[in-house]
Amino acid sequence: MKSQQIRQQFLDFFASKKHQIVASSPMVLKNDPTLMFTNAGMVPFKEYFLGQKTATEKRVADTQKCLRVSGKHNDLEEVGKDTYHHTMFEMLGNWSFGDYFKKEAISWAWELLTEVYKIDKDCLYVSVFEGSDDDGLGYDQEAYDLWKQFIDEDRIINGNKKDNFWEMGAQGPCGPCSEIHVDIRSAEEKAKIPGKSLVNNDHPQVVEIWNLVFMEFNRKADGSLEKLPAKHVDTGMGFERLCMVLQNVQSNYDTDVFTPLIREVEAITSNEYGVNEQTDIAIRVIADHVRAVAFAIADGQLPSNTGAGYVIRRILRRAIRYGFTFLNTKEPFIYKLVTTLSKQMGDYFPELKIQKQLVTNVIKEEENSFLRTLDQGLLLLDGIIKNTKGSEVSGKKAFELFDTYGFPIDLTALILSEKGMTLNENDFNNELEKQKTRSRAAAVVETDDWVILDEDPEEEFIGYDTLEANVKITRYRKVSSKKEGDFYQLVFNMTPFYPEGGGQVGDKGYIQVSNGNVIYIVDTKKENNLIIHFAENLPVDPTQKLKVVVDSKQRFRTACNHSATHLLHQALREVLGTHVEQKGSAVHSKNLRFDFSHFAKLTVDELREVEDFVNARIDSKIPLKEFRNIPMETALEKGAMALFGEKYGDTVRAIQFGQSVELCGGTHIQNTGDIWHFKITSESAIASGIRRIEAITGDATKDFYFENNRAFFEIKDMLKNPVNPLKAVLDLQEENSVLKKQIEVLLKDKAKNLKGTLINEVETINGVNFLAKKLDLDQNSIKDLAFEIGNQVDNLFLLAGAEADGKAFLTCYISKNLVEDKKLNAGQVVRELGKLIQGGGGGQPFFATAGGKNPAGIEEALHKGKEYIL
Ligand code: ATP
Ligand code: MG
Repeated sequence: MKSQQIRQQFLDFFASKKHQIVASSPMVLKNDPTLMFTNAGMVPFKEYFLGQKTATEKRVADTQKCLRVSGKHNDLEEVGKDTYHHTMFEMLGNWSFGDYFKKEAISWAWELLTEVYKIDKDCLYVSVFEGSDDDGLGYDQEAYDLWKQFIDEDRIINGNKKDNFWEMGAQGPCGPCSEIHVDIRSAEEKAKIPGKSLVNNDHPQVVEIWNLVFMEFNRKADGSLEKLPAKHVDTGMGFERLCMVLQNVQSNYDTDVFTPLIREVEAITSNEYGVNEQTDIAIRVIADHVRAVAFAIADGQLPSNTGAGYVIRRILRRAIRYGFTFLNTKEPFIYKLVTTLSKQMGDYFPELKIQKQLVTNVIKEEENSFLRTLDQGLLLLDGIIKNTKGSEVSGKKAFELFDTYGFPIDLTALILSEKGMTLNENDFNNELEKQKTRSRAAAVVETDDWVILDEDPEEEFIGYDTLEANVKITRYRKVSSKKEGDFYQLVFNMTPFYPEGGGQVGDKGYIQVSNGNVIYIVDTKKENNLIIHFAENLPVDPTQKLKVVVDSKQRFRTACNHSATHLLHQALREVLGTHVEQKGSAVHSKNLRFDFSHFAKLTVDELREVEDFVNARIDSKIPLKEFRNIPMETALEKGAMALFGEKYGDTVRAIQFGQSVELCGGTHIQNTGDIWHFKITSESAIASGIRRIEAITGDATKDFYFENNRAFFEIKDMLKNPVNPLKAVLDLQEENSVLKKQIEVLLKDKAKNLKGTLINEVETINGVNFLAKKLDLDQNSIKDLAFEIGNQVDNLFLLAGAEADGKAFLTCYISKNLVEDKKLNAGQVVRELGKLIQGGGGGQPFFATAGGKNPAGIEEALHKGKEYIL
């Protein structure tokens, strides 16, 4: 069965059990301070488990793009080495939000695997949570009793807390789980070692495929458990592992999810898969990583130097390095796989097809730049090796290469071992540990449990309509961080504060407490559907009603910039074409930033046209039309652009200014006239095919023009206030170029005169025409002069010294016949005399130069020159 069908059967099966089938959420999380990537199928639904949002559908199923490369779930180092862990993989899942529980979850899982997919029951094992004294939890008898209706009791295994108690993180929803494992070894091997003893023991053919989690607890900050208000089911099945079982192969990489990619790597790099373990690992790494990177870019996460972007860059670099070292690829090639990948997966995940060109370009650019880094690193490493006495290279030096230049340490070790050298790994690890400790200490954050004052889960955002409100704190917690000290996170029953999101910064403002005192709110963010206010302090009586006020000036400026961003987007599509797509934006109160796809630098004319387009709409004073809580389809009818990765159940908000319609949750001005004026301050490239425009509006443009005007007057002043300043500058430029030409002529004359003088100074010694002299010329002029004199004077031995910027130079010219007859060699002369100026050099027997750092040695060198012909 093809993988596409396997995926579809899963979804069809749960649809038949009354589940709503939803699309995968994005793999890259944009507005979640607790997590960078979706690492399990439950992530898009975690608000429901936390009780911070009510599910509109009680039964849901999907396949979810997951990435396990950082944080609690990190499989990166396994990937490629084993055959069943990936960085990016699909997790098939079915959910019950307070609806069915263990009985249905278990019987449906069994039905799907054994009746629909027809997996042989004798290949299956299941595990049941054995309980934990620490947590005061007993054996999961209920799950055991349910399983034994379907499966031999000796195929039910007890699992400990590590394997059979699932937790989202250090805090949060959790519960016992039951895993389903498959044993796909040959009958012969099964006879030798019973599968039961291999479950959960890292055997590549005895692997977990499905985990059924019965979510019923919440783990608190002090480590204790409390019951959740409702019981939920969260299951996750590895799609690629399921394909391995159903396609009767022994490795995920032998399924049709991966084979097209592997064939392509083989063809491009002229390596064969399945012949050599090292090469195989490299091919698996590349086939795996290209998926992770391509999906991340298609989700809008470009490789970069920080945060999630850095994680993606590291994954791609790992693939490049494996290719470089084991497949001998010295040119970019991974980008070529994107075509195959989008053919293979683009039907179910259309974002891959639509973004194919961008993904390809970005990967190619990254490959190019990292291959350059590798080249440079190899040179630096050569230098380190040359300066190493003995055969052990210092760990400190290797760490520098790794830390400052991004040169991979395993590559360093490999190259050293090829040269019969070793690396002091202890020192290297010490340096690495020191660095980790430094950054860990800076990042330590301690978060207390929420103190719940009012169990009101739905917190209302009223900030589109008002900037002030009388509110109640519903929950708060204290957070202590090394970097920022102690502060409080507050949640209100309703709030006018806009939480950071959709590129727009969070609101600032204050809480009014008694007798005119205030507590500042320094930032607002959203976490798991809660709007969290970062306050410097806690009101003395947190249960009291409080007046909260948003900083209106900052909000107004931010709103101007946000509305201007929409107009800019419209302008770019109008002026440059509809290939322009938003790739990111940052809306602050001071300025705005907009990233978009476009393949060339904008010309001055295009930039002006864009500015004019936006300013014309500002001048037309277009009123805001806002549509709240409308279904996506309605917004699309109005002309909004479809966005990928909207979460299921979401209605949308559309913002319209004339022809500009965007899906947007941000805050806007009432009329484009409020923006007053729009000015682009910079345009640049941030990645291949992605441009960035930075711009300002309103007050900021006044400052901008004021500053420019001031500079202009200063320049005019310097030019002595001409009537026409532009002409004055042109005149100056003209005058300058005339002067330059005159100087060139004069210098040539000077050199000609000098040549005559020098020829007169030549003395004949033993049949050699000899001249040694310090000259006040640059190296190029000396070279020209030496050759010109050489053309006129036979049997010439010329030695010239010069001094510039505290450095010393020697030039030696010897007529070719002298080189032969007298066995003279200019290269040797400058090498030997170069020592006197503390330097070195070389060249050919008839012409050579040397540079050194001791001008005081020039005279002696010139003096000694004579000795060569005596
Ligand atoms: P394992 O012990 O094999 O790493 P896990 O306990 O980390 O698995 P869960 O967190 O329970 O796995 O995830 C649910 C399912 O997702 C697993 O049963 C497995 O089929 C699949 N899965 C987990 N991690 C990966 C991965 N890195 N690559 C591919 N599939 C995975
Ligand atoms: Mg794991």
